[in-house]
Amino acid sequence: MNQKSQEIFGLIFNVQRFSIHDGPGIRTTVFFKGCPLRCFWCHNPEGLDLLPALQYWDHRCTRCGACVAACPHQLHHLEAGEHRIDRDRCAACFLCVDQCYSGALEPSGRRVRISELLPQLLADQPFFAASGGGVTLSGGEPLMQPQFARALLQACKQAGVHTAVQTCAQTSWAHLRSILPWVDLFLIDIKVLDPVMHEQCTGKSNRRILENVRRLADTSAPLVFRIPVIPGVNDRPETIAEIARFVATLRTPALTVELVPFHRLATDKYRSLGWTYEAADLCPLSAKAMDSLRAAARI
Ligand code: SF4
Ligand code: SF4
Repeated sequence: MNQKSQEIFGLIFNVQRFSIHDGPGIRTTVFFKGCPLRCFWCHNPEGLDLLPALQYWDHRCTRCGACVAACPHQLHHLEAGEHRIDRDRCAACFLCVDQCYSGALEPSGRRVRISELLPQLLADQPFFAASGGGVTLSGGEPLMQPQFARALLQACKQAGVHTAVQTCAQTSWAHLRSILPWVDLFLIDIKVLDPVMHEQCTGKSNRRILENVRRLADTSAPLVFRIPVIPGVNDRPETIAEIARFVATLRTPALTVELVPFHRLATDKYRSLGWTYEAADLCPLSAKAMDSLRAAARI
């Protein structure tokens, strides 16, 4: 990897070490900012926008007022014990974060160079080697930053690290094709096959997604499909079986089809961003209901 690639910047919001749910073995997962979809149940809202944002955790705020003095735009207000932020005008300069010693304010999103990030990822190589693990790019959608994703994957592969990419496949085929040489495993999210329902609950049709999935399967790339099971969207056995039948038609058989249950753990993250969580009232499915959906996925 040349010096120029090492200097490529990307915008990420987390690096999660010792992950065991993002591919085989023990992995380090890099979460990219930016997603082309707007799934109303999204579990990682801090990954949606391709911009840094301010997160505020009310339970940590001591009402010390340091942020009020720090913000050049006077966007923090402490009134009657309440802390209000005029987020519409926030420039994400994070001067207030620097003055908040309780951790109530945090930046969501930081720009990193490959040369900074790579040593951090390679530090866990002994764990990867012992467990058959590696590095996973997730998000958000990693291919919203195709140049950074490609350079990072290439750097990992050249260092002998297994790579996986978690993608919604709502991207150009050119972007997917450009990372193919550097990816050992694709983890692909499939929500629902009905294009109308897909557009209603994610904001985009699934035409391009399904086309990309077929093209990826034609390359013989190893694929794992993940279905986030969302009440009212795809929690009927027929809907899951329909996805499983589609997967079964692909030229390269999927390694697995996994069902990921909806949960409400993201509720606080939406609050921290000042957003409303549209899925806040959905009830997670019971273990028994998930079992019957898993049976439907084994067509
Ligand atoms: S600086 Fe932090 S702890 Fe102090 S009022 Fe602002 S958010 Fe709360
Ligand atoms: S990030 Fe900057 S602009 Fe936004 S509230 Fe903090 S100090 Fe003000």
